Amino acid sequence: MVYTWSCAKKYLSEKAFKSLSETIKNGGKLNPGIADEVAEAMKKWAISKGATHFTHWFQPLTGLTAEKHDSFNQLDGEGSVVQKFSGEALIQGEPDASSFPSGGLRPTFEARGYTGWDPTSPAFIKEGANSATLCIPTYFVGWKGEALDKKTPLLRSMKALSIQAERLAKLLGIKCTQKAYATLGGEQEYFLIDREFYYQRVDLLQTGRTLFGKEPAKHQQLADHYFGAIKSRVMAFMEDLDREMWKLGAPVTTRHNEVAPGQYEIAPIFENQNLAVDHNMLCMEVMQKVAERHGLACLLHEKPFAGVNGSGKHCNWSVTGPDGKNWLSPGDNPHENERFLVMLCAVIKAVDKYAGFLRAAIASAGNDHRLGSHEAPPAIISIYLGDQLMDIIEQIEKGGAKSAKQGGTLEVGVDSLPTLPRHASDRNRTSPFAFTGAKFEFRAVGSNQTLSGPNVVLNTIVADVLDEICTELEKTGKKDTDKAVQKILKNIIKEHKRVIFNGDNYTEEWVKEAKKRGLLNLKTTPEALKELKSKEAFEVFERQKVLNKTELQSRYDIYQETYETIIRYEADLAANMARTLIVPAAIEYANVLAENVKSVESITKGKSSSTRKLLKEVSGLTEDAISAAEKLESVAKGNDTVKTRKAMADLRGAVDSLEGLVPAEIWPLPSYAEMLFIS
Ligand code: ADP
Ligand code: MG
Repeated sequence: MVYTWSCAKKYLSEKAFKSLSETIKNGGKLNPGIADEVAEAMKKWAISKGATHFTHWFQPLTGLTAEKHDSFNQLDGEGSVVQKFSGEALIQGEPDASSFPSGGLRPTFEARGYTGWDPTSPAFIKEGANSATLCIPTYFVGWKGEALDKKTPLLRSMKALSIQAERLAKLLGIKCTQKAYATLGGEQEYFLIDREFYYQRVDLLQTGRTLFGKEPAKHQQLADHYFGAIKSRVMAFMEDLDREMWKLGAPVTTRHNEVAPGQYEIAPIFENQNLAVDHNMLCMEVMQKVAERHGLACLLHEKPFAGVNGSGKHCNWSVTGPDGKNWLSPGDNPHENERFLVMLCAVIKAVDKYAGFLRAAIASAGNDHRLGSHEAPPAIISIYLGDQLMDIIEQIEKGGAKSAKQGGTLEVGVDSLPTLPRHASDRNRTSPFAFTGAKFEFRAVGSNQTLSGPNVVLNTIVADVLDEICTELEKTGKKDTDKAVQKILKNIIKEHKRVIFNGDNYTEEWVKEAKKRGLLNLKTTPEALKELKSKEAFEVFERQKVLNKTELQSRYDIYQETYETIIRYEADLAANMARTLIVPAAIEYANVLAENVKSVESITKGKSSSTRKLLKEVSGLTEDAISAAEKLESVAKGNDTVKTRKAMADLRGAVDSLEGLVPAEIWPLPSYAEMLFIS
């Protein structure tokens, strides 16, 4: 269901195919002379797959994907219909897109937004129940070319990184045979629950998470779900999901049970970053559809259930250099190690210097519930390198000193590195940003987030540091490159090694230690997003031509507003659920207890002090719930997100306690135990 190179070859003339492949390989504009032929070929292929419509598929700032379908049909003027698809329709679209968030970039009176074909991500077919649609991956910009989506800055940042990698390659005497590009493999965690329960929980339906729910007696204490045998219904879902993803060209390859009951993971073979982001977007969509087919609901929220593990998305990032090699993989000779160490140190510096941007890129209302809650990395961005790499880094920092572990001193560009273990068993699972053999793994990304944001930041900040390094190296003569590299790396390590932490990131000691080191600990989304509004952010993103000041500012505005909106409707829904579902159930039970006390005491003159106590407890908590709901309603109106979240937590406290007392058969919501264990 993917329009691959071989499809294009089959349907295009040799000349057109050659021109198209050049465009895709080298970037740049499609030759307008072949546009119609390219579109016609794509249409023929699509129709052979049952397509009646086409759509420009794009990624607006909602964080979701968007599509508006057009049929191929055109009237031929003689009472009949012909199927047409022009080059123009392939290359550019103008969806009536005035309702997408633009952060003030596009007032509605000039609401034009254009979608433009991204030929580097292949077109694909989405199958519906009765027909199919040709989907063309596109970017989405305003009429002056201002980015209104998640793909535009990604492509720009990939270009920035590619430019700097080539520049560095030349300086280090590495032969360039291709374009450098970032690689990405996104591991995706998710929950599956029975769809019946999903329909019974308005909070899940509307917010993606449970706003109430008492922790069950058994959840993940024994870690007996992790990597466990997969239940047959879940397995059927996974098989179906894999097949659907393969049809779409997404190379998903691993599947397993995660730590929490009802939690799972899917991961692909890594790809070119742009493709990997698109494929992850598709994956999130397909997961929900396939789940529905199996009577399940797939929850992608970062924290659907309080008290058990939340879901993240691991962003495995590396760079394939212009020599076609992985630049985060230590090589076999001093030359290859030099570029590995430069890349490594560039990442260290970038992550330390711009930790705030990385933190901002993973900030969301959902991820706030997960970060730092003892099953996910804290909000402090730090790097894990492992002992052996740390040892090498320390040697470089010391310059002339002897190292016991190595039995010598490492000279960059001259010495070979000791072989580093790719899959050391002691890999630190608690670090938000870990070196894992031949790539960095950014683990603080939320399960529901697009991979675009964090990758845009990573590409941009590493490109910016490489830019500085190259500028420095350009000042030295060719002969002295190795020495200059050694000096640059030494300085980077000295200045930025504070960001390296190989210990347990989940501990209180680390929080204290990080503070001492001056590392940021931005606990909430608003604190983190502010980092995007700094002078430094505007400068870096503009310098690397990824986002100009207006574009970045508009993103800040949208993300902040989205955050406030989510807190607001979650608060409104929580208060409403308390009033219309929880309190009535609690009162019903209190009445039963009151009747019981009355009858026991008057008819049998029996003992009822414990029942009275229970009644008191239920009525007391009901009172608490009512007043907490009232308080929440009034606080939420004030739009103070900190106070609102506190008021929500107070309400939840009363409600969850009631759940422990009110009979299950009159409790109006499915319990955690039911949702997590029945599948
Ligand atoms: P785990 O982290 O679970 O041990 P792996 O190390 O095998 O698993 O890989 C996790 C993810 O990292 C996979 O999606 C894999 O494709 C991806 N990955 C591996 N190498 C690279 C690379 N050079 N660039 C980007 N992603 C990579
Ligand atoms: Mg991982």
